[in-house]
Amino acid sequence: MRVLYITSEMAPFAKTGGLADVLGALPAQLQKLGHDVRVFMPAYSRIDRKKYPLSPAPGLEELDLHLGPHRYRIGYATVKQPGTGLTVHLAHCPPLYGREGIYSSDVDEHLRFLALSYAALEACRQSGWAPDIVHCNDWQTGLVPLALKSLYARDPVLGRAKSLLTIHNLMYQGSFPAFTITDTRLQPAAHLFHQDQLRDGRINYLLHGVLYADGITTVSPTYSQEIRTPEHGAGLDHLLRERSSRVVGVLNGVDYAEWSPENDKLIPHKFSAADLGGKEKNKEALLQKLGLPYGAGVPVLGVVSRLVGQKGLDVLLDVAPDLLLRWGFQLTILGSGEGRLEEGFARLQAAFPRQVCFYRGFSNELAHLIEAGADMFVMPSRYEPCGLNQMYSLRYGTVPIVHKTGGLADTVDSTVGVAFDHHDAAGLRWAIETALKLYKDKPTWRRMMLAGMQRDYSWEKQSKVYEQLYERALRV
Ligand code: ADP
Repeated sequence: MRVLYITSEMAPFAKTGGLADVLGALPAQLQKLGHDVRVFMPAYSRIDRKKYPLSPAPGLEELDLHLGPHRYRIGYATVKQPGTGLTVHLAHCPPLYGREGIYSSDVDEHLRFLALSYAALEACRQSGWAPDIVHCNDWQTGLVPLALKSLYARDPVLGRAKSLLTIHNLMYQGSFPAFTITDTRLQPAAHLFHQDQLRDGRINYLLHGVLYADGITTVSPTYSQEIRTPEHGAGLDHLLRERSSRVVGVLNGVDYAEWSPENDKLIPHKFSAADLGGKEKNKEALLQKLGLPYGAGVPVLGVVSRLVGQKGLDVLLDVAPDLLLRWGFQLTILGSGEGRLEEGFARLQAAFPRQVCFYRGFSNELAHLIEAGADMFVMPSRYEPCGLNQMYSLRYGTVPIVHKTGGLADTVDSTVGVAFDHHDAAGLRWAIETALKLYKDKPTWRRMMLAGMQRDYSWEKQSKVYEQLYERALRV
């Protein structure tokens, strides 16, 4: 199959979250399986050109793109993905991508990703490379399925392509004023836009992806169910219910080359299910690094997270003081984000200087050390499309304590961790206390650690599920 991926993020070139990790792994896996894949992303100025040198894209000429009254010259470049050798195509246009961040709240945000979408589709036409599948990701590519079904319906190169949309997080939908319909090149298909919305003065990009994609995936089976309910549907649940037969949840994979204790280059002591000795040494190293005293038999809880409301850590702040006093465990938190949460964890550290360390910031190295050195990992997310850290934790024998939602519900059960149903202080307190009691029962605890370490959430496995979905899309 020829598969075209269009994405706003891809690891290691440009990353804000899980989307980049998926694109960093999935296309390369499909290529390994023998498929012909092309990935398009923007040539953001923040991509490190020294580390990732760009080359010209053979056979592709500059594109003169008109989006309503806006005109852009888009060049093409390629870059090799380290480790996989995959060639990635970049849309080069400094007026659009020469900004500090990957995303902006500038008035032309929709134009930045329309340009990416058209740059990818037009490159296929230029080179006569006819994709079987166009795999779109999040709102940034939300109008591509409609473009394929209208503008390109009779195109000799693109006319037969099937579209698949992956929703990585339903909360980000890309909603823009209705007058910008003139920028989309899809005005001749204005009748195919959601009419009530147009009348309300908006165009929601993700909604149109949901309406017109031939297939829709989300990043875990449970999240794929949740987004069809009013509680988690963010206003799109009724449309997702209408298209239920096309909605599938596929759990993200883990890059075990980077995240497994046997060969993790970022931790001081390697270990494995066969020899757990290194785990305790990593715990000592973690506590030493963070300036906390080590005590044999004292459990260490870890958190690595963006500090935002979604992650539910405000509830941890509510229950932590009482639990720390009564149970005497230690808590290490790595993360940054909202001020109220950063201040909350800083205050907690000040109140419990021998038990709590809050490291404010982003550190991949410390993230690895927490996974390796902690005994338990806390993820009380209010919602979680997939979540990666709980899967990393399982591999490191670090027992996850999670809210039973989205991908957390799909990966953590009572044989490998503790999951609580109700997202409130009582629920989280129960879960932490349950884990602390289990920790004292050494044989049971060891069994849980080993069961988690044996789980396989590799991309090798998950990419085959996508392969089957592509094949199915081609049959209908
Ligand atoms: P989300 O994409 O919602 O942030 P995921 O669990 O899917 O949540 O992925 C988060 C990724 O970002 C993980 O790889 C995690 O280790 C990493 N991460 C989050 N915060 C930090 C931080 N402060 N330092 C290092 N890595 C972090």
